[in-house]
Amino acid sequence: MEVVVITKRGTLIGRMQPIHNGHISVIKETLKEMDEIIIGIGSAQISHTIENPFTAGERILMLSKALTEHNIDPSRYYIIPLEDIACNSLWVAHVKMLTPPFTKIYSGNPLVKELFQENHYDVITPPLFNRKEYSGTEVRRRMLNNGNWEKLIPKSVTKIIKDINGVERIKYLNQKEVSQL
Ligand code: ATP
Ligand code: MG
Repeated sequence: MEVVVITKRGTLIGRMQPIHNGHISVIKETLKEMDEIIIGIGSAQISHTIENPFTAGERILMLSKALTEHNIDPSRYYIIPLEDIACNSLWVAHVKMLTPPFTKIYSGNPLVKELFQENHYDVITPPLFNRKEYSGTEVRRRMLNNGNWEKLIPKSVTKIIKDINGVERIKYLNQKEVSQL
């Protein structure tokens, strides 16, 4: 009898502004359970704000270099930018349209969990690693305050942020508008 092997695919979605060591840990853990992972770059259309400083293209570059740095086999992941849509009730269909087929979604976000559960997906809430430090908000806070943000992210991501003057971008965006005299 022929044995049919079905590829186990799971999805993880984050804005990844920027990618940090917590994202890398959860990706590695997910790949212990699944054959392949789909990494969705959320709010792909947003950039150049304090909370979302980097473009989807910059985030794709950061993620692919970080996964290479961590020796993760490129045949095991897909990096897919996901723009927001106005209707939450249609969001799962929107994600489904843009991604390879998957059965499990890894998320701690209540809205993401609720929407995928309603659509009968298997929803997993992965543990958070060192959440006090490994958070996008903390990385951006340290960038603004000249703290040690480099420690929280892969070396290859630090290099990209320096190449694109990312810290200067955040500091510039944080300035108050000044009127011309
Ligand atoms: P921000 O503070 O900008 O919201 P974030 O650190 O929460 O950034 P997101 O880009 O919002 O990261 O991605 C959210 C997803 O990334 C979460 O649902 C979770 O699955 C995963 N994640 C984020 N931080 C960690 C962490 N420290 N450990 C494990 N997973 C994490
Ligand atoms: Mg978050």
